[in-house]
Amino acid sequence: MKPSKFNIISSSKESPNKILLYNTLHDHRILFDDPELNPQILFEKLKNNFSMSEKESDVVSQLKEMGLVLDDEVDEQALFDSWYHEKIRERTDVMQVTILPTMNCNLACDYCFENDVRENGIMKPEMISQTIDWMTQRLTNIRPRELHMTFFGGEPLLHPKAIREISKSMWSVCESLNIEMAFGMVTNGVLLTPEFVEELLPVGFRWIKITFDGDREAHDKKRIKHNREGTFDIIYDNLCKIAGKLKVSIGGNFDNDNYASMFSLVDRIRQSPFANDIVSARFKPIMKINPDIVSGRDGKVTSFCEVCSFNDPQINGILALQEKTRSTGLPVQKRPEIGPCEYHSRHSLTIGPDGSLYKCPAFVGVSHLAAGHVRDEKYNAQGETQVTMPKWDEDCESCAYLPNCCGGCRMNSVNKTGSLEVKSCEGNYLSRSIEDFMQQEIARLSEE
Ligand code: SF4
Ligand code: SF4
Repeated sequence: MKPSKFNIISSSKESPNKILLYNTLHDHRILFDDPELNPQILFEKLKNNFSMSEKESDVVSQLKEMGLVLDDEVDEQALFDSWYHEKIRERTDVMQVTILPTMNCNLACDYCFENDVRENGIMKPEMISQTIDWMTQRLTNIRPRELHMTFFGGEPLLHPKAIREISKSMWSVCESLNIEMAFGMVTNGVLLTPEFVEELLPVGFRWIKITFDGDREAHDKKRIKHNREGTFDIIYDNLCKIAGKLKVSIGGNFDNDNYASMFSLVDRIRQSPFANDIVSARFKPIMKINPDIVSGRDGKVTSFCEVCSFNDPQINGILALQEKTRSTGLPVQKRPEIGPCEYHSRHSLTIGPDGSLYKCPAFVGVSHLAAGHVRDEKYNAQGETQVTMPKWDEDCESCAYLPNCCGGCRMNSVNKTGSLEVKSCEGNYLSRSIEDFMQQEIARLSEE
């Protein structure tokens, strides 16, 4: 027998007898707290065919049932490949669609990538209808159990008509097809009203993601209106007015200027009237777009998407903020990962205001990465290539982080190398964040 290649082992820094075994493929976390049982020694004995105590043999049998120990002849890479194929790439249980009703924005944050792609403008009435038709057709063909929609932008609330029409139409389509539907939006929150929320609650409006770039003073230097006015109080008050109605994810983008202020922001939102609505609080470093490589962008800085937060040089800053957030009792990310994000799933996609389809929200506006158009039934050749191209290489196949990463973020690949096909490895980031996660898990499981 042999240990799974997706096992990771870490001892508690405070009590070295407590050892966590984490399997990245099955997401199992097992705490060893018995001086006679050490998974590292157990696996060494297994590999070398050494004899084991009865206790050790019992544990090995249990680990085998869980897939953390395998018979020698099992090809674990083949198991992973088929997991990826069925559960990620070709999954049909959930269809995830991100819709950008407009690239326009009522704010003028200087790091926003969408400053560069606004000429694509606003979703016109015929494009709203084509988007509804295209999604209806897809849902009818695929018949997922759930439809998850995200309105993103630009600022989606600048085009409430598109949000209303799409969400109401898709709700009745989903009802007729017996599909559960939920949607949310990534909004700056300036135009959010209780009336709009109330109107759309019956058609599946469930969550919002709001960004604060620090506490009031720092935020008001970054997230400003076109007339340079700050927006902290407006957003905060709007969130207070809808307290109890939606789940709220809090995001924040930091650089050296506002990093310290993120800590007081965490304290403030913890004490806010909407604290109980918060389901996640995640803060990310602002990343740079390479203007020489990503055509269609002029080199402004941005965070790529709502999923990724990797950034190796900033890992200490990310972890310290995560620790601060955790210490206040606010929810933090449950599993350290880069992927597999929506880019990997055939039936998940982003629709731009002009009806172009993309496999990743960060590709919007980069025309050569468009995967098709809502007027067409199928992805174009570029879309099909993105779905089917190999996502990882031989090095990844011996990397325990493969299930948390699947070969890395492809926007990062494009940004660094100009090519989707060149892997961009964030192994250092993953290794630090997984170690931090394991220490937290040891503490959590010790209390159970
Ligand atoms: S490819 Fe990268 S930027 Fe795109 S959705 Fe995935 S993690 Fe986010
Ligand atoms: S890209 Fe790097 S971290 Fe990700 S699976 Fe491959 S080797 Fe591991």
